[in-house]
Amino acid sequence: MNSLRQALWSLTYLSCLIVPVYVSIVIYRNGVPPGISAAIAIGGVGVCMLFMQRVLAFRDDWRSWRKELAVDLLHYVFSTGTVSRLTELALLAVATGVAAALSGSHEVIFWPETHIALQLLLALLIADAGTWAVHRWMHHSAFLWRFHSLHHSSERMHILASGRSHPVNTALIYLAQTAPLIVLGAPAEVLVALAVFTASNGMLQHSNIRFRIGLLNLLLMGPELHRFHHSVDEAESAHNFGSNIALWDHLAGTWLLPTGEARMRDVGLPAWLTRVNFFDHLAAPFRRELPAPDDAGTAVTEG
Ligand SMILES: [Zn+2]
Repeated sequence: MNSLRQALWSLTYLSCLIVPVYVSIVIYRNGVPPGISAAIAIGGVGVCMLFMQRVLAFRDDWRSWRKELAVDLLHYVFSTGTVSRLTELALLAVATGVAAALSGSHEVIFWPETHIALQLLLALLIADAGTWAVHRWMHHSAFLWRFHSLHHSSERMHILASGRSHPVNTALIYLAQTAPLIVLGAPAEVLVALAVFTASNGMLQHSNIRFRIGLLNLLLMGPELHRFHHSVDEAESAHNFGSNIALWDHLAGTWLLPTGEARMRDVGLPAWLTRVNFFDHLAAPFRRELPAPDDAGTAVTEG
């Protein structure tokens, strides 16, 4: 019975990733601009997850997140959605200019022309190598932690917590994720598919839904793993830096999934407890007193 339940959860989890990616590709191939194609697919799966959070909550005390709803919605639309799109457009403009200057041509020469599913798999492997490295660096540099710590400030997991990010944090993560793909000449269709996969998995990771995805935890960075990255316990939060896949954490020895739900501690950061204000969030990294290294969770003081 347990294994059947786990199989159903795994199937649901994969559906929440594959369906929006497929929908976005279909919409994009019908001539809709990439940003709108991605937004439609992400919005659709987001509504489904909102419903699941209501009826299949992981923790009852994480159900009430109205206090943070407005600020997290602003972050989702502006700090994450708009900043990542602007970063991508800037990267594309630079890459196009460099390509034109070097060869007088915009031809793609490095990226393999194969089935879109294989291209997405390749994009996930490359993009996550970059985001894993930058994310881990953010936890080890006191300066970068000032910008990343906001993302760890939610006291409860819910789907919009994935968008709570300082614009500098978003731009750095998105640069690490997308720049190598643009240099290699990945087509816009692959960038749309990757953006939708990442946004859908981001909402799943931060959702208050009682997913039990079993062996999929060995492959994908899902909610069971990512919750521990948000743990108040530094021994747990210094793990699971992957964005979408678990491979780079396995190779670096930072993959962690303690057994037993009793191991799940609270999430959040004491330094941010009283700050639930969008503009205060944007200014906080530039204040001398916040976040203090002592309160910085997994950050260390050097660097
Ligand atoms: Zn982190």
